[in-house]
Formats: sequence, structure tokens, C-alpha cells
Amino acid sequence: EKITDKIKALPKDATYFSLEFFPPKTPAGLQNLHARLDRMAKGLRPLFVNVTWGAGGSTATKSLELASLCQSLGLTTIIHLTCTNMSRSVLDDALENAKLMGIRNILALRGDEPRQHEYLDATDQVRNGNGAQDEFVYAVDLVKYIRKQYGEYFSIGVAAYPEGYAESAYPVAQDTARDLPYLREKTAAGADFIMTQFFYDVEAYLSFEKVLRNDESGVFKDIPIIPGLMPVQSYQIFKRTTKLCSVKVPTGITTRIESVKADDEMVKEHGIQIVTEMISKIRDSTETSGGLPRGFHFYTLNLEKAVAFIVERCSLIPEIPTSNEVAVVEDEDDEGP
Ligand code: FAD
Repeated sequence: EKITDKIKALPKDATYFSLEFFPPKTPAGLQNLHARLDRMAKGLRPLFVNVTWGAGGSTATKSLELASLCQSLGLTTIIHLTCTNMSRSVLDDALENAKLMGIRNILALRGDEPRQHEYLDATDQVRNGNGAQDEFVYAVDLVKYIRKQYGEYFSIGVAAYPEGYAESAYPVAQDTARDLPYLREKTAAGADFIMTQFFYDVEAYLSFEKVLRNDESGVFKDIPIIPGLMPVQSYQIFKRTTKLCSVKVPTGITTRIESVKADDEMVKEHGIQIVTEMISKIRDSTETSGGLPRGFHFYTLNLEKAVAFIVERCSLIPEIPTSNEVAVVEDEDDEGP
């Protein structure tokens, strides 16, 4: 099912959420995740789930395997696809397999820069890139390609960065104004929804959303913009992920996390509270919602506990039409980072 159809079918004042997973490296890891996914599918009932894709197609087989598992558990799935540094046949196979599995949703991404291009500027890359890669330089190229090959079969999403895109290969200041024309371009090329990088600065997110909604091109006016949230799993993971993705942490949040950093349980608890407050602020800001139901996307890092608490506290779990459910939070394995 297309996620855009599912969103459209919700009442305008409804909320929904999605969960993102990456393919585990080992069969044992996949088995663990299988059990977790099954519980989350039944207990949390996300509107859809996302399966990530290793840049360059490095997880192609495993991503498709996980996507297939999600579909078999009755979860509406978005598969992520990157387009640079990867042969066209891997891309074509992925699209064809996704279609065969009944997947109707793709998050179209560029993928990270190949290392060897680190010191070239963007124009050099276009000129000097090798072979088929020339066709795919930015995410917009993938959006166009999928539309050309598959028409309207897939609902296509693109990525956005509320604090500006951080390019590890070209260290320039993050600037949402610089990214805007390109986000506009890839959206106009056929994107149906936008998912964002995670953030902790709600004000920055809301002003970003406002800029998009008021953009004079009109392309962002009424398309789902889904904010990305990363529950705080541990002090180390929090420090690492925010640094890696150049995500700013407001002083108030840093202070709260730092004050309990020696106590893992307290870090998690504060993290849950922080994200709960973020959701409540975003939910209340109807002015920039585009008149659409509010959605929230969780980068789960394949962990269940924190996200389960958050969606419960925020009453994001949809009512069950039938059947008796077991509360997922009580029924959980010990999970390591
Ligand atoms: P683009 O939209 O191509 O933008 C990249 C940069 O180029 C931006 O600075 C943009 O402003 C600039 N730009 C775009 N077009 C032009 C142009 N024509 N001329 C000049 N500059 C231009 N990575 C993975 O490998 N696997 C995943 O599963 C994955 N999932 C993600 C999910 C989300 C929600 C997000 C936000 C990111 C994800 N990423 C993933 C990371 C992503 O692949 C990287 O951040 C990548 O470096 C950029 O991808 P993009 O699609 O945003 O690129």
C-alpha cells in the first residue's frame, strides 16, 4: 500500500508514526529483529516502517530480505534506495524486487559521497564520475529515474535537513537556504512526501517547516513532511550520532542529559521525556502542518524499548479494530545498544 494513501485516509487531526530499521549483519541478528518487529507490529502499530539501504548497495540483499519480512508481518514498508556509487543493475534489481514484494514506497536518496571524491568539488564529480554513475549524481536523478521507469506505481519520498545538510566531504556551514532550491527540485521531480534528518531543536524544525509550507513554488504546500526523531538510547550513542550527523543539541537538552550521564537508565528516561516533549510541541503547531495529519518518524537503531515508551506516552498508538493485545513494553527482551 502507498503510505500517501494511508495518510490521506486518516482524519485530518489524527497522528501517526513510522519506525526505521536497518538490516542486521548476521542471521541471529535478523532473528532477534524478527521477534521484535512482530511485537512492535502488533503492539505499537506503526502506520509504516522504513528499511535502510547501505550506501553503494552494500546491504542490497539484506535490505530486500528485511523489507520482505516486514511486508510478511503486514507492515507497510518503505525501502530506502541510494543511487550514487552503485551499478544500475543493483538499482534495477532492487526496484523490480520491491515491486514483486508488493512494496509501493521508496525513499529516494543520493547516498554518501564515495571516499575518493572527497577532495573534488561537485562539478568535478559530474564531469569525472565513471560510467553509469554519471546518470546519478543527486537524489533528484533517482526520483526522475523511478518516475520514468515506474510511472505512478511507487510513492516516492525524499530526505530533508531541518538544520541544513552537513557534507562531510566538503566542510561548509550548514545552510537550509542553500539546500532549498535542490529540495524544491527533487520534490517537483515527483516526490510525494518528505522525511527529515533527526533533530533535537524543535524551534529550528518548525521554522524549517514554515519556510517549506510558505515557499512560493507551492511544491511543499500539502505534501506530508515527516519529522525525524531519534530516541536517546545511551549517552555514548547520543554523543556519537549527533556529532556524526552534525545535529545541534539545544543547551537545555545537553544539560539534562549531561546531568545523568553516568546512569544509563536515567539517560534513557530523560531521553524519553525529551522526545515526548518534542512531539507534543510539534503536534500543537497546527499552523505549519499543511492541514495534514501529523506524523513522526523514529530512527529506532533497531531497538524497541525507548520508542515503545514514547509512542505510549504520546498516545500515538492507534486503536485496535479487533483482537486482544499484549502490552509490548512489559514483554521485552533485554536489549543492548
Ligand atoms: P541530495 O538531495 O542529492 O542532496 C545532497 C547535497 O547536494 C545537499 O547539500 C543538496 O543541497 C546538494 N544538491 C542537491 N542537488 C544539487 C545540485 N543539482 N547541485 C548542487 N548541489 C546539489 N543514507 C544511506 O546510505 N542509506 C539510507 O538508508 C539513508 N536513509 C536516510 C534517511 C533519511 C530520512 C535521511 C535524512 C538521510 C538518509 N541517508 C541514508 C543519508 C543520505 O543518503 C545522505 O545524507 C546523503 O549524503 C544525501 O542524500 P540526499 O538524498 O539528501 O541527497
